[in-house]
Amino acid sequence: MTSEIIETKDLKNDPVFGQLSFDNHEQIVFCNDEDTGLKAIIGIHNTTLGPALGGTRMWQYKSEWEAVNDVLRLSRGMTYKSAITGLNLGGGKAVIIGDAKTQKNDKLMRRFGEFVNSLSGKYITAEDVGMETRDMDIIREVTPHVTGISEANGGAGNPSPITAYGVYMGMKAAAKYKFGTDNLDGKKVLVQGVGHVGETLVKHISDEGAQVILNDINEERLQELSKKYNANVVLGNDIYGLDIDIYAPCALGATLNDETIKQLQAKVVAGAANNQLANEIKHGKLLQEKGIAYAPDFLINAGGIINVYAELVGYDKKECIKRTENIYNTTLDIFTMAEKENITTHRAAFNIAQSRIDKRKKEQNN
Ligand code: NAD
Repeated sequence: MTSEIIETKDLKNDPVFGQLSFDNHEQIVFCNDEDTGLKAIIGIHNTTLGPALGGTRMWQYKSEWEAVNDVLRLSRGMTYKSAITGLNLGGGKAVIIGDAKTQKNDKLMRRFGEFVNSLSGKYITAEDVGMETRDMDIIREVTPHVTGISEANGGAGNPSPITAYGVYMGMKAAAKYKFGTDNLDGKKVLVQGVGHVGETLVKHISDEGAQVILNDINEERLQELSKKYNANVVLGNDIYGLDIDIYAPCALGATLNDETIKQLQAKVVAGAANNQLANEIKHGKLLQEKGIAYAPDFLINAGGIINVYAELVGYDKKECIKRTENIYNTTLDIFTMAEKENITTHRAAFNIAQSRIDKRKKEQNN
């Protein structure tokens, strides 16, 4: 497998395998079902450390190509997330093309579950954007290769609260590194995306006294949460130049790009969204040059995968919380390592994850 983080490639001659997000994926499965209208893609990036576990995202993509690119980026991210977290899991992810609010139904979920089942456990699914614990319960009717199922059905329930707790730990560690204290009292924190993870994160940081600013495309939700947490609201996309201490991306990926980094006033970036850097090398460096402490997304949003992994090996809530709490220490270590080696934090985290995969590969080949 590759040992480099993604760099730009010439795609003219290799439109599929040469796609820069393809990055040595083991398998990609296109799932199409005329009866239910299901159009899904399952990406299996790497199974060196174990079966590829990663959630399913249901989203109304602008084009099928956008969906392919998203699933590839997401499944690759899962490889490194599980690797750095010390889990015996590979990286995979799935996307269903469609509007979760209007096009999701039990038949569609079951059909998707059958596709997951056809992979005989090489890919294990869970929740992601647009999916709920209830959907996992439906999928469970047709395949055992699903996690994040409800407690009533023997699972560990929605992984989002523990994801949020891990992000909170990562944010505190980043604050410690940048501000010399991990106390968030009085810090101005912009939370972009107040869904399952974002809301719980808002709760943690509000409880600690942070001045929270909420942003979401769902205005109803913004109104509801601004009252609940006594938080300010900012509407629209014009948010990057706000006078804030911490930016917490908790919606979708690639919000750290040429345009936004230029405007960014925050000193710390720590959030739940996957693939926050539009280009890992370029935008990782731009943040470093601006002196912005970036807590790598795949490191600090690993609480959920810790939780769903526990479902496979025997759920122990205390152990999951302990492991998630440790994100604080690992994040601090990453900042120290990046500074010492004068590399980006993304690179530092990536190197640790990659070396674990390489080591296992070597053992397997011996
Ligand atoms: P969610 O669907 O519950 O919430 C996402 C929120 O973002 C929604 O409220 C949505 O309206 C909002 N949003 C979408 N586009 C936006 C935009 N352009 N600007 C502002 N807000 C926007 O999803 P979630 O489960 O809370 O996950 C959030 C992010 O964290 C995703 O990127 C997901 O992949 C990642 N993540 C989630 C988990 C988990 O356990 N749920 C684990 C790891 C990573």
